[in-house]
Amino acid sequence: MSAATDDILVAERISKTFGRFSAVSDVSLRVRRGTIHSLIGPNGAGKTTCFNLLTKFLRPTSGRIYYKGRDITALRPSRVAELGMVRSFQISAVFPDLSVLENVRVAVQRQHRGNSFDFWRSDSLLRRYDARAHELIELVGLGTFVNWRAGKLAYGHKRNLELATTLALEPEFLLLDEPMAGMGPEDVDRTAELIKTIAANRTVLMVEHNLSVVARLSDVITVLARGQVLAEGSYEEVSQDPAVIEAYIGTGHD
Ligand code: ADP
Ligand code: MG
Repeated sequence: MSAATDDILVAERISKTFGRFSAVSDVSLRVRRGTIHSLIGPNGAGKTTCFNLLTKFLRPTSGRIYYKGRDITALRPSRVAELGMVRSFQISAVFPDLSVLENVRVAVQRQHRGNSFDFWRSDSLLRRYDARAHELIELVGLGTFVNWRAGKLAYGHKRNLELATTLALEPEFLLLDEPMAGMGPEDVDRTAELIKTIAANRTVLMVEHNLSVVARLSDVITVLARGQVLAEGSYEEVSQDPAVIEAYIGTGHD
């Protein structure tokens, strides 16, 4: 297969400066279709900035970004979402007063808003939305909470609900910003399994601090340090790279 069809996302020498400070400089990145690709690096490495550039929440100072061969450098996040590249929590938010089912159903309906059949709100259409919502709720493991008020869910479950509302947008390429942040060990395990399941027919790019999760899930890891790519490869490769070890020790483990 040619590189063009293999790569779902290509970033070519993207940079971002804030004033005179270079948060990201000349980062090139290729995300292969069907992989789980992680972005790691010590504190201040430029991970969040890079993630925001790739998801179009920040505009690069220079460089180009291509999604499925198409130059998306100038596109807005909502536009790239329509193309199938969706950042978790981009559009969806959890409404605390709605039930788990209602939250996911709202997201499913929003995804199909463009459909002219929507005018009718036919029973069969609503049943389809409902069925898809139930499917997604089962997928993220919230089946027993389907009628709970979202505001009453425990933290980890709330994050899983957010994931369900993101999946309602049917992303082909899902970008996750620290999916394990703030979770206890039990939630981390469940969510890691969930990401693996989700990734079965999608491409996933994530920024994640939990290195054991990164080791367990990632096909490819890009290590950033001081705004630049320090290393790339499997967990085994990058974790044995002296430059990576040095960067983590030098700045304190993140
Ligand atoms: P990481 O997510 O890897 O910890 P960040 O991308 O958040 O790193 O930040 C990289 C560097 O860029 C840091 O030194 C940070 O202080 C700086 N930075 C990030 N965002 C801004 C901003 N909006 N204005 C100025 N400096 C910023
Ligand atoms: Mg960060």
